This record gives sequence, structure tokens and C-alpha cells, in this order.
Amino acid sequence: MESEVRELLGEELKDAYSAEKQALRCMQKALRSASAAALKEGIQLHIEQTQTQIERVEQAMEKLGIRPGRKVCEAMRGLVEEAQNSIGEQDKGPIMDLVIVAGMQRIEHYEISAYGTDIALAQALGEQEVVQLLTATLEEEKQTDIKLTQVTEQHIMPAAMEGEEADEEEEEPASRKKEAAPKRKARA
Ligand code: FE
Ligand code: FE
Ligand code: FE
Repeated sequence: MESEVRELLGEELKDAYSAEKQALRCMQKALRSASAAALKEGIQLHIEQTQTQIERVEQAMEKLGIRPGRKVCEAMRGLVEEAQNSIGEQDKGPIMDLVIVAGMQRIEHYEISAYGTDIALAQALGEQEVVQLLTATLEEEKQTDIKLTQVTEQHIMPAAMEGEEADEEEEEPASRKKEAAPKRKARA
């Protein structure tokens, strides 16, 4: 029934609103823990995008005549908690940067899947304005995910592997050390 799909979209948007606000606070903390300049820039850019994304969700909700309410996105709460616990276990440096990227990419992937669903619901309801708002956000989430992989490959992983080589100098045979730095991030 259309009214139920509409109600579902409303609930999804309340969830997205909560998720974005939690992600924003998480990134503001992560920014203070990051070391690589390219990572800091990436986080800063996505903090600014996220502020706009929160406004887009507000506009979408206004368009549908719903209020944000007090709904909490439990999935984002878990993702943020896990990310912050992992970050807390590290000292500043390339490994901490890897942990920040790992947490952020999990968050981006959750957002990508949520907005994909929300856009499909809005599309089915003929809510073109909402589709456009959410599509703009979805594109930013996808680009952020790609950017995080690039920054890791180009800046963070080389630094992380260098540190490890120095530590393992005595155990690692010289021939193996050459093969270290992989070009791609394993889970990307
Ligand atoms: Fe977002
Ligand atoms: Fe959620
Ligand atoms: Fe995001």
C-alpha cells in the first residue's frame, strides 16, 4: 500500500537524520586523531558535506511533512562506538590513520546502502525532489569511500609499511622486504 511505503520512507529519513548527526560528531573527533594531511583534508571535506547532507534530509522530511523526532540509528551508534574504541587503542600515526579509514569506510558503506533504499522508496512514490536530494548525498558518500581508498593507497599505507619494515629488520629476510607495500587495500 502506498501509504505504508510513504510511512516507511518517513522512518528511513528519521534514521538517516540520526545517522548523519552521529557520523558528523564521529568525524569531528577523527579529524583530531588523524595525522596524514591528505586524510585530514578528506575528513574536513566530508564534515562540510555532511552538514549539507543533514540539511538535505531536513528538506526531504519537510517535503514529506514529517518531523525528525527522537529516532536513533542504532547501526550508526554501533559503527561509531566500534570506530572510536579502535581509534582509542592506537597512538597517533599511520596505523591510527588506517584504523580511522577502516571505521569511516564502514560508516560510508552503511550510508550508501541506506540512501540506496531511501531513493528507491522515494522514486516509487513519485517524490522527485526527495530523489534528487538523496541522490546528491549518495554520490558524496560514494566519492568519499573512493577517496578514502585512494588516500590510503597513496599516503597512509606507504607510511604504515615503512614503519613495519624498520621494526622487523632483524627477522625479515632482505628479499621479502622488497615485496612489502601492496598497491591495493585488501578490503577495498
Ligand atoms: Fe552522510
Ligand atoms: Fe539506521
Ligand atoms: Fe558519509
